[in-house]
Amino acid sequence: MQDNKIYCNKCGKEMTEGYTICDGLQHYCSDECLETELSQDEYKVLYEEGYAFWTTFED
Ligand SMILES: [Zn+2]
Repeated sequence: MQDNKIYCNKCGKEMTEGYTICDGLQHYCSDECLETELSQDEYKVLYEEGYAFWTTFED
């Protein structure tokens, strides 16, 4: 039994896809949750550096 579940850092929702930040340090399920923690500009910088992107967590 492995617990590979990913939960949104903001709202706690279980995620099958969403934003992953800084190599899995943080996860956000939606634009709304992401934007409470990161501005568009901050996200853009991380995205361009490869530290933030939308992904799926399903096997
Ligand atoms: Zn969320």
